Amino acid sequence: MELILAVVIALVVAVAVTSGLVISGRKKKQLPPAEPPSTTPTITAPPAEPHVGEEAETPREEPRRTVEEVELPAEAAPEAPVAVEEPVVEEPAAPEIEVPEPTAGRLVRLRARLARSQNSLGKGLLTLLSREHLDEDTWEEIEETLLTADVGVAPTQELVDRLRERVKVLGTRTPDELRGLLREELVALLGDFDRTVHTESPEDTPGVVMVVGVNGTGKTTTTGKLARVLVADGKSVVLGAADTFRAAAADQLQTWGERVGARTVRGPEGGDPASIAFDAVKEGIAEKADVVLIDTAGRLHTKTGLMDELGKVKRVVEKHGPLDEILLVLDATTGQNGLIQARVFAEVVDITGIVLTKLDGTAKGGIVVAVQRELGVPVKLVGLGEGPDDLAPFEPGAFVDALIGD
Ligand code: GDP
Repeated sequence: MELILAVVIALVVAVAVTSGLVISGRKKKQLPPAEPPSTTPTITAPPAEPHVGEEAETPREEPRRTVEEVELPAEAAPEAPVAVEEPVVEEPAAPEIEVPEPTAGRLVRLRARLARSQNSLGKGLLTLLSREHLDEDTWEEIEETLLTADVGVAPTQELVDRLRERVKVLGTRTPDELRGLLREELVALLGDFDRTVHTESPEDTPGVVMVVGVNGTGKTTTTGKLARVLVADGKSVVLGAADTFRAAAADQLQTWGERVGARTVRGPEGGDPASIAFDAVKEGIAEKADVVLIDTAGRLHTKTGLMDELGKVKRVVEKHGPLDEILLVLDATTGQNGLIQARVFAEVVDITGIVLTKLDGTAKGGIVVAVQRELGVPVKLVGLGEGPDDLAPFEPGAFVDALIGD
């Protein structure tokens, strides 16, 4: 009896010690050792802008920066009125974690969606080019087809000029020759860009990606889909729900995260986005995540308002180190309006890549060309549906094949 009692007591003690270890182990990872062990891993306000000279004290070549090294002293003056909210680190729910589809060849798999919605562009062009007599009226129709598909005036003119020249040289035109020629010219129009989404930091810290765009374009959905892409590629991800303007955005993002086991850092509704973004990167560093994805609010109320808000998020995040990618999400169905948005955002932050969403719902695929021209920045990803894996790396060849059929 005594023996059984002793064994039971020993077991209870062992369980308590083990769980204590797990919890304190976690906390230890998230907290600077100097802080009292009871402090929770929260940040109450974004730290101040670095003072001149401080950056020099934190050389970028450092092998690994820890949280305490990148944090600024608490007594430093904050750059804005101190936000006293406490971003909360949400534990991902344990239940079944999904295994996202591999990303290689996604555009090819999803091409039916492009072909379905956009054959008015590619097929229309092919039909026109196949006419026996390519007179002025036909060339005008070709031009109109391109303009209607939102290709933009200058690229349309360029393409038509090149096509006219090459068709003349070609003499007789077989359908295969025409298809080949059109394919080549459309691919050339899409340009030769590096379309890699840069999710790796040159340092030993997580890659940090900020996702910006007007609300409703598909920003949060894209952030969630991108998290899946990264998880599918074997990376660990922390999400920052810095869109505190739209009530459901943080819940929405957290749900995306939970499905693939990615932690979401969030704060109170209407809270300070910069504070949450800062905390998300801090959490990413603490848990040695590969990538931190930050969803932001895109209120296009005034350019100054947007500039203040996004600019601040960027500056505060950059206290941890430079951003590796700033993705602008544009809704392909909004045409010229999307271009105006692109212009405004580009003035506010340095966009490094474009995500065109809802390409499944438009015949205006030419916006890919127009927006790249507008910003001089490549389309890196395209959204082709509302499904969790309907986000594909943009590949010009596969895209054009989907437009004109092969
Ligand atoms: P946010 O306000 O910019 O964060 O927008 P959301 O991410 O909430 O997306 C707005 C709506 O667009 C949602 O209903 C999404 O499911 C939908 N959406 C996002 N991307 C795509 C896409 O590529 N195709 C389609 N058809 N719908 C999309």
